[in-house]
Amino acid sequence: MEAPSVIFSAGSPVASPDEGQARRVLAHALELGLGFKLQPEIYRARLPPTRIRDLLLSGLPDYTSSIEEVLAEFTDTVLPLCKNEASPRFLGFGDTGDDVAALAGGILALFTQQNLINQSFDSPSATFIEITVLRWLRELLGFANPPTQAVTTVWDVGGIITHGGTMSNTVAMMLAREHAVPGTMDRGVTDPGRFTIIVPRGIGHYSVKSALTWIGAGSQLIEVDTAGFRYDLAALERALAENRGRVMAVVAYAGDSRTQTIENLQGVHDVTRAADERIWLHADACWGLLCAFSDHLRHKIAGISGFDSVTVDPHKVMAVPYALSALLVRTPASLRTITSYSDLIMQEDFAFGQVTPFVGTKSWLSLKLWMLMRTHGRPGLAAMAEKRVAIAQRFAALVDACPRTIRLHEPDLLAVAFVYLPVSFANGSSLASDVELVNRANRWIHERMLAEGIWHLHQFSMLDDAGILRRGATVHPLRFMAANPCIEAEHMTGVLDHVVALGRAWEASEHAEGRA
Ligand SMILES: *Cc1c(COP(=O)(O)O)cnc(C)c1O
Repeated sequence: MEAPSVIFSAGSPVASPDEGQARRVLAHALELGLGFKLQPEIYRARLPPTRIRDLLLSGLPDYTSSIEEVLAEFTDTVLPLCKNEASPRFLGFGDTGDDVAALAGGILALFTQQNLINQSFDSPSATFIEITVLRWLRELLGFANPPTQAVTTVWDVGGIITHGGTMSNTVAMMLAREHAVPGTMDRGVTDPGRFTIIVPRGIGHYSVKSALTWIGAGSQLIEVDTAGFRYDLAALERALAENRGRVMAVVAYAGDSRTQTIENLQGVHDVTRAADERIWLHADACWGLLCAFSDHLRHKIAGISGFDSVTVDPHKVMAVPYALSALLVRTPASLRTITSYSDLIMQEDFAFGQVTPFVGTKSWLSLKLWMLMRTHGRPGLAAMAEKRVAIAQRFAALVDACPRTIRLHEPDLLAVAFVYLPVSFANGSSLASDVELVNRANRWIHERMLAEGIWHLHQFSMLDDAGILRRGATVHPLRFMAANPCIEAEHMTGVLDHVVALGRAWEASEHAEGRA
């Protein structure tokens, strides 16, 4: 047989020229990746989207190039425009994904090319690493695991790995739908009125609503009032009573996607169960998972193990590179209700393809989390969680001490949402009177920040549920997030000083236009 002209030639103990080149190229790629993460800047170059479009969109090449040429082109034109979340000035969003063990796991998952759709020939060992990770996550949340010998099929595991919280929430809604009306998987939706869900007003994540539309259940949401970014339990009780027989699920956020306030999970559980035992209880703990690691933080998610399903997003809170989420279920066998059958593949006990809706070929996403959890162990995970929460508390104290900023909530986790206060408020003008002025200033500050690309804070709209400016008003805050392991005191003061400087620049520009 002729030697294959692929980069890896098989069998030879001596490095062939191809293998030598492969090693050099891959080592170079790794160096590029490391250099990128270690650069201090978030962006090395910043251009408007249409400029980037015009720079990068090109026709399918009708010539060949060496990988060295392509890497050089990538390094010069693509990489400088990429966002580097590992920069210590990236302070606005979720995790930065730079745990070394997790990166090693991500790389090895690429190289090993296992396919978790099946176990026997496709991923003989990977499937059991995935099961191990799922069992670790369950244990952290307080879900009971069957003993090893009792794990004889994928339906004994009690969870699935998915690409993100959006997909985990979607699978949770499928479980809720099947629980409300068994057989819907086969017959389809015949009574859409039966698939209403209850969510907290103003703090939900869009994925839950989208999930309902994707699974054909119709977008029927009952939004229940909140106070301080948690359900008003009396209002929840009323909503359940008024909609008896229609509600398939109640969704609670263990860390919502704006202020990361953790729901009173036990309270929601008790009120819901008292109203109707059969309602599916889903907790979105994309952020709140962090509390499960630490004896000092775990009380914040008390009651979570009474929920029927829980979404967790290690790629948001565990220094794991994108993408990795899990959906965990209290009763493992509930996953049987959304099983797919195929005579082509997956006719085996440990084939995850059977219980992972929407996904066929399934890469080994869990290896990076296994590597991280193996290296950190319980004490390392606890330290990671406690350090991050402590940094959020320190930043909150800085916001409080700064006369030009005001904080909009008590930080439960890593998020601190705050606003810059225009100078007129320092002169005694009431906050409630001009929320729109505050919003204009903060939107301007955020736009400038994004365009500069030096510091990063996040921005969104939210209800002022704690009544700091005016209760119920829509505010556009800036958000700091303590998810970056490189954050030092200088970055916290640095970004706050920068916000204040931009606020002053906004005031100057308003003055110039005669508005302020
Ligand atoms: C981010 C987030 C999601 C969606 O997760 P992805 O991993 O982005 O798909 C769902 N719920 C909450 C509360 C989130 O913050």
